Amino acid sequence: MDLKGLIDCHTHCRFSPDGQDEPSKLVEKAEQLGLKAIAVTDHCECNTWFEPEYYGIDSSKADPDDIVMYNCKSFHDSSLQPMNELKKQDHGELVLVHGIEFGQPLQAENIANELVNDKRIDFIIGSLHNNSGKPDFYYLEYDKMSFQQIDTLLKEYFEQVLEMCIWGKFDILGHLTYPLRYISGKYGISVDILRYRKTIEKIFTTLISNNKGIEINTSGLYTDLKKTMPDAQLVKLYKDIGGEIISIGSDAHRAEDVGRGIAQGAQIAKDCGFDHVAYFKNHEPVFVNL
Ligand SMILES: [Zn+2]
Ligand SMILES: [Zn+2]
Repeated sequence: MDLKGLIDCHTHCRFSPDGQDEPSKLVEKAEQLGLKAIAVTDHCECNTWFEPEYYGIDSSKADPDDIVMYNCKSFHDSSLQPMNELKKQDHGELVLVHGIEFGQPLQAENIANELVNDKRIDFIIGSLHNNSGKPDFYYLEYDKMSFQQIDTLLKEYFEQVLEMCIWGKFDILGHLTYPLRYISGKYGISVDILRYRKTIEKIFTTLISNNKGIEINTSGLYTDLKKTMPDAQLVKLYKDIGGEIISIGSDAHRAEDVGRGIAQGAQIAKDCGFDHVAYFKNHEPVFVNL
C-alpha cells in the first residue's frame, strides 16, 4: 500500500528525551511521503521528574523556583513554539497535529490534569510505560524472571491500562501490549496474550463507550518484536467488539523513521475490517479513508 494519503499520529522530536530531530524535519519527511496528517506527540512522563538538561533546557536559564520546570510540562511548552510556527506555514495537503503522549497519567494525575485542559493541544495519546511503583518495562530483566513473575507483571499492566481507560482523559490508547516490545522482542520470551483477554475486552469496551480509540503502533515492525502493538488479532477483537476509532503511528524518534510501518499498519486495519483511520483536531476524530 502506498503511504500517500495515510497518517502518522505518533512521532517524537528532539523535545522528547529520547527524540533526535527538530519538528520541522519530521514535518518535512511527512510532506515528502505525501502523508495526510502528522501528529508530533512528545513524551509527558507524568510520574517522572528530571533535571532541566534532560529536556534540553539549559539549567542556568531554568528558574529553580518553578517546580514545573523539572517535569514534562515545561518540556511540552518547548515543543509548542516550533509547532505553532510550523502550523503557520504552507504544507499543502498535510495537516499538522500538535499532540502529546502521556506516560502513566494516573501515577501523577495532577500533572496530567494540567495538560488535559491545555487548549493548545489537539491530541493526547494515553500510554502506560511502567506499572505503578515499578521501572519502565524497558529496564526490566525478563531472563531473570519466572513465568509466574512475568504473568503477574502483564496482569497488572492490563489492569492498570484498564484503570487509565476508565479515567479516560486522552483520545487514543497508546501501544497496547507495550511490554511485549521487550519481553518477546528483546528477550525472545513468547507470551500467549489471550491469557489476558477478559481485561483486554474490558479495555476495549471502556474505550468504545467513552468514544476513544486505539492506535496501531508500528514501531514493533522495525524493531525486535516484528509485530505491531497491538497485533492483528487484538485489532480484530477491537473491531468485533464494536471499535470504530483507530489511529496509526510509527512512534518515530527520528525524522527518517516517520511513516515507517504505516503502510503495513493500514493494511492490518483494512484486513480487520476498518475502512478508515483517524487523526485528531481539538480532540475530535477526523476520519481518513483507507
Ligand atoms: Zn510510548
Ligand atoms: Zn511514543
